[in-house]
Amino acid sequence: MAFRRSLYKTPAQLRAMVEPGLITAEALDAVRALIAPGVTTGELDAAASAVITGRGAESNFQLVRGYRHTTCVSVNDQVVHGIPGSRVLEPGDIVSIDAGAQLRGWNGDSAITIVVPGGDPVRTAARERLSEVTRGSLWAGIAALASARRVGEIGDAVQGYIERAAASDGGEYGILRDYVGHGIGRKMHEGPTVFNYRVDDLGPEVRPGLCLAIEPMVTSGSDETFVEDDDWTVTTVDGSDGSHWEHSVAVHESGIWVLTAADGGAADLAPYGVTPTPIA
Ligand code: MG
Ligand code: MG
Repeated sequence: MAFRRSLYKTPAQLRAMVEPGLITAEALDAVRALIAPGVTTGELDAAASAVITGRGAESNFQLVRGYRHTTCVSVNDQVVHGIPGSRVLEPGDIVSIDAGAQLRGWNGDSAITIVVPGGDPVRTAARERLSEVTRGSLWAGIAALASARRVGEIGDAVQGYIERAAASDGGEYGILRDYVGHGIGRKMHEGPTVFNYRVDDLGPEVRPGLCLAIEPMVTSGSDETFVEDDDWTVTTVDGSDGSHWEHSVAVHESGIWVLTAADGGAADLAPYGVTPTPIA
């Protein structure tokens, strides 16, 4: 694989990505605090929007052609790209929220999945486990990036984590194959592709300046999805639940830093013996 200079940012460019990352994290914190039965997905979107515009940033989702909202909100069998609106959250719903801020031309991108308290205890516990497994696979992928030589090692770590979880739970998890992570920088979506599963071509080298949005999308059943009639929402064919976690992560001279986590990922990387280093 040839060295592609455009994939690797300068230290100054990485520094410019810190603030949009933190604003993105703050927007999702605001959404998380709001999630409860009776709240609409549109209200979640408004909370994220208030943070992003209040900090002088723009929603980069609104810069995607034809999209008018600040977030994507995907509920239950919807995995990603759900459109926020009048849908009312019910006890036990599993809700994925994806958001991003652009500030001074640089982008952040992150997603969380939360289970609304209440509902059928067995179903709610299964949904919380799905979210936890997806979140765990994200951190396994981020931890792998810390010592990876090639981008494709991330997908190997994500898939390995999901497979171990499925074996220990005696269940099935599907990793979406039609949707992937990506590079991030001046544009929310840049090269390279970040697969959430094993691939033969391990892709570009991991070097200082690489900035990736890692985002496993996992179901409690088959990985097969379809796009709903709204032309956006990605929903499971078998009706199984979906979960989506995402962080934007920078590789720099002295290590990695999770741009969309207030602590740079320190707490979640500690079990892997990885200590994130702030971007100097
Ligand atoms: Mg995203
Ligand atoms: Mg993304």
